[in-house]
Amino acid sequence: MEKLKNKVAVITGGNSGIGFGIAEALKSEGAVGAIVGRNQGTIDSSIALLGDNFIGINADVTNLTDLERVFKETSEKFGKIDVIVANAGAGTTGTVADTSEADYNKMIDLNLKSVYFTVQKALPYMNDGGSVILIGSNAAHRAYPSFGLYGATKAAVIFFAKAFSNDLLDRKIRVNVITPGTTDTPAFDKFVPAEQIEAVKTHFASVMPIGRIGQPSDIGKTAVFLASDDSSFMLGAELLVDGGMTYLS
Ligand code: NDP
Repeated sequence: MEKLKNKVAVITGGNSGIGFGIAEALKSEGAVGAIVGRNQGTIDSSIALLGDNFIGINADVTNLTDLERVFKETSEKFGKIDVIVANAGAGTTGTVADTSEADYNKMIDLNLKSVYFTVQKALPYMNDGGSVILIGSNAAHRAYPSFGLYGATKAAVIFFAKAFSNDLLDRKIRVNVITPGTTDTPAFDKFVPAEQIEAVKTHFASVMPIGRIGQPSDIGKTAVFLASDDSSFMLGAELLVDGGMTYLS
């Protein structure tokens, strides 16, 4: 039996990497809904793969007017929303010695402000008893070179899961966070010159306790669990899905 039959989901950043893996996994359990991003090309190619039960919405998650449009459009098309995945986000800025104010503000807007207001703007359109899934990062737990500000934003996102769950107790909306480790997505490729990507992935796999880097489907399966009634007793929780890299290596 499908665990998410006809549940309506919105996945920000669902047109790439982890977000697309989550959209595929939710769909495989019967969910319908919307993916959100800014690149129309990848929105269209993702919708072609997800099929008619999903729509693509071109919107900037750092813009509150865009966010209101996302949830209005989704609920007009599918009815009230059951699952929100606040996944859109991006990586490193640099060290404390060299990060500009502009880059600092950009990171806060994308990784923190967008998560806060994605949830706020979704609430009027959500069913009570729904599930909100935030995406953290193992960089919130361990200092990696140049990932300090990024890690701090993700540590705040992990705290948001507790704070938002507390704020939303009266509506029984559960907010939990998935914390991925290194996962094979286009974002990972951005940090490495094209000709070195395969060698770097092989190196990463060899130093990962589990012997491989993560796949978007690993995060997708965890999202199905948190979206479904299987996790109905969990709120404010963090699930570390990192192949052991954060604490075991
Ligand atoms: P990708 O670069 O593959 O995907 C990022 C997604 O976010 C894209 O769909 C992008 O869409 C969307 N996005 C970025 N900025 C905006 C914006 N302003 N408005 C709307 N959409 C936006 O990255 P990943 O899949 O790797 O990352 C997804 C999440 O997972 C992020 O939060 C990241 O921090 C986290 N993460 C990733 C890890 C990894 O190793 N890959 C490890 C730990 C956490 P578009 O370009 O169309 O705007």
